[in-house]
Amino acid sequence: KLPVVAIVGRPNVGKSTLFNRLVGKKLALVDDRPGVTRDRREGDATLLGVEFRVIDTAGFEDDDPDTLPGRMRRQTEAAVETADVALFLIDARAGVMPLDEEIARWLRGGNTPVVVLANKAEGRAGESGVLESFGLGFGDPVPFSAEHGEGLADLFTALLPYV
Ligand code: GDP
Ligand code: MG
Repeated sequence: KLPVVAIVGRPNVGKSTLFNRLVGKKLALVDDRPGVTRDRREGDATLLGVEFRVIDTAGFEDDDPDTLPGRMRRQTEAAVETADVALFLIDARAGVMPLDEEIARWLRGGNTPVVVLANKAEGRAGESGVLESFGLGFGDPVPFSAEHGEGLADLFTALLPYV
């Protein structure tokens, strides 16, 4: 059984872009049951020769289990709780937002190890956001660009203890 990496973060930080970069064409759509969001995608990735399973999560906005966003949040939480490591994506250009803080609080209360990935950090655009995300308390953030594929070697190094 492959180690599992769950990508988590607020909307628009680049989770799906990262997923597509890691998994590429090996993408597998997993859950076609009605009422279950199809936004949870899984696939196998190979990074510098190490193979692992990646889950792309969607939704961490609403805590009400009777709403679709609430059900999506439950799915996200379940994915992270059963993963070997959570890849917590931050938008380094936007900096740390209230919803990032909320997700961080939830992650701190769990047992899944967390690696912070400061995405959209191509060039020098995200420098202050990278520093800010250090304050989330999960150790050194990895500056990254899912769109440009920058930082993959550092991501590999950060994931290696868990995969
Ligand atoms: P998700 O909602 O977290 O899954 O985010 P998406 O993967 O859908 O990306 C949201 C937006 O951010 C899209 O317009 C992406 O093209 C953009 N994006 C993703 N990664 C990067 C990156 O590394 N740099 C920049 N500048 N934009 C990115
Ligand atoms: Mg997405």
